[in-house]
Amino acid sequence: MDTAPDFTARRLAMVEHQIHARGISSPLVLDAMGRVRREKFVPAANREQAYDDGPLSIGLGQTISQPYVVALMVEALGLQGGEKVLDVGTGSGYGAAVLACIASEVFGIERLSTLAQRARRVLLAEGFLNVHVQCGDGTVGWPGAAPFDGIIVAAGGPDVPETLKVQLATGGRLVMPVGSEFGGQELVRITRQTPSRFRRETLGGVRFVPLVGAEGWPEGNR
Ligand code: SAH
Repeated sequence: MDTAPDFTARRLAMVEHQIHARGISSPLVLDAMGRVRREKFVPAANREQAYDDGPLSIGLGQTISQPYVVALMVEALGLQGGEKVLDVGTGSGYGAAVLACIASEVFGIERLSTLAQRARRVLLAEGFLNVHVQCGDGTVGWPGAAPFDGIIVAAGGPDVPETLKVQLATGGRLVMPVGSEFGGQELVRITRQTPSRFRRETLGGVRFVPLVGAEGWPEGNR
């Protein structure tokens, strides 16, 4: 008897009960969440939990965010399709894959080389040819690819890095958790309304791993 779990059914149930039922309504986001095979981005040992309603360990003390939080952040970017997006804290590559279903190009930066290499491999194997993953400090952004229509930071920092704000295109949005190093954070959205005017909104409480870098938390005691 074939006992392989039906991941497609689990994925569609996840989109319905965890994402749509909680108020995410963008068809582009719902479609993307229904397409990316999350089970391929989590470590083999956690595959059974791929569609659980929470974050999961991806090793090296890092986590793949809860599906709902990924959907919330992507929806907050307000993408229409075809944009250029920066993904800071690429981790497993899952969030980048969701973005890549909507945007035309995704630039991902991951600080830990083991994770960056793994993400690159999985993204390629899953057919995401429009994602470029670099290993490095994402708090300084990716100047060579800027400006970005959207920037997602998937790790919590003390504040939104100025360097990232200036890499936003006019009209572009950045979404990032801001707060204390080991506690919870607030999800912040920055919209670059004009070259010199940035609007700041808060979208609710979240809990992310720390953003470690020049405009994040110091490397120090890690
Ligand atoms: N978007 C990821 C979430 C990974 S958790 C996913 O879908 O799996 C956040 C990641 O941010 C971790 O992998 C961590 O190593 C990374 N990170 C922390 N500080 C960083 C920095 N300054 N630049 C790039 N990546 C960073």
